[in-house]
Amino acid sequence: MKVCLDAGHYIFTPGKRTPIFEDSGLFIHEAEQNYPIMFKLVKYLNINGIETVITNNDINYNMSLRDRVNISNNNKVDIFISIHKNAITGRWQTTAKGIETYCYKFGGNGEKLAKQIHEQLMLECEMKDRGVKEGNFCVIRETEAPAVLLELGFMDYRPEADQMKDENWHNKYAKAIAKGVCKYFKVDFKEHNNLTPIVSGPTATMEQMMQWAKNKDTSQEFSNLASMYYTMAQKIGINPVFAYAQFAHETGFLYKIPSSAGLDASYHNPCGLKIKKGGGDYQSSAHKRFNCWGDGISAHLDHIALYAGVKGYPKQDTLDPRHFNWIFGNAKYIEQLSGKWAPSKNYADKILKFMKEIETTKVKNDELEDKDIKIKELEEQVRKLTEETRNLKNRISIMKAGAMELAQM
Ligand SMILES: [Zn+2]
Repeated sequence: MKVCLDAGHYIFTPGKRTPIFEDSGLFIHEAEQNYPIMFKLVKYLNINGIETVITNNDINYNMSLRDRVNISNNNKVDIFISIHKNAITGRWQTTAKGIETYCYKFGGNGEKLAKQIHEQLMLECEMKDRGVKEGNFCVIRETEAPAVLLELGFMDYRPEADQMKDENWHNKYAKAIAKGVCKYFKVDFKEHNNLTPIVSGPTATMEQMMQWAKNKDTSQEFSNLASMYYTMAQKIGINPVFAYAQFAHETGFLYKIPSSAGLDASYHNPCGLKIKKGGGDYQSSAHKRFNCWGDGISAHLDHIALYAGVKGYPKQDTLDPRHFNWIFGNAKYIEQLSGKWAPSKNYADKILKFMKEIETTKVKNDELEDKDIKIKELEEQVRKLTEETRNLKNRISIMKAGAMELAQM
């Protein structure tokens, strides 16, 4: 069971945003809601044993529709889901509201999937039912897997626009969609799993990881490594948020907290990996020195994948110096690392706490703010010009009327 998830747009897709909220003078981009829903959906699906592939992890990257389709098709997923918010006018309106669900054509598994998700959305969200419809959208037409496109309320209907900043609403949508997907795959939906899988899609963006690192006042070197983790962990199928949080914990944010074994960043050793024959925890010579971060992180991820029992492991060609067969599959869940990866009983708790922090980190985006301000200024100019035009038209008609009167005299 594998699902391809798509958050619809990148942050600057023109027009994909709410009108301006009068109270704050700000607006919300559609992607700012679609992404958190998608990441929450990843969690729900992974808890229920359903694999996830994401088309575009990066909210700042403008991925074409064709590339989104290709990612789904190349990964040979079982179903495809695109997450959106609707709008009709781009101005506040009160007539259009509610949820509609699209499949490309009625009569196949796409319709079946659309109905199952739509039904759960109706039960969970208690919003106006606009029904299941056929829609000729590229991402659901060109994808080989049964595909749906969800329009979760209207951005230009104020009560539904308010949902876009509300984490409870993001969760409500994600849960409903996950329930529908579980119905489709005939899986009994589980809301909680007290265990957090290591093999999982990312549960936050790379920008959140970097911003978190900055908020912790870490070195540039530490925050820059977020991107290497993000790419390399996903290739293996490991949640990069977990791997990066473990890196932070194991190195005390790259020795912001000094190492008790006397290691420093020049070891390029992100998780205290020892040399093959091992040695004392406080002995620097017992720890592996890697040539570069690429090597160290690759070894770290191989070591994690071995614990998690990833397919294809143990590997023959690995840089992990302690790649022992007997570790294979010892900890499929982060919680199970306590007492195994490290002797401490609350080892996993510390990493899970970091992960939660990353997942709830707000990213400051200066470029975004600049563009938003520009858009607002332009809108204000348009408003002024419209008013001026109206005034001029009035004056012209008054002058015309005057001219007529003069002509008749
Ligand atoms: Zn959209």
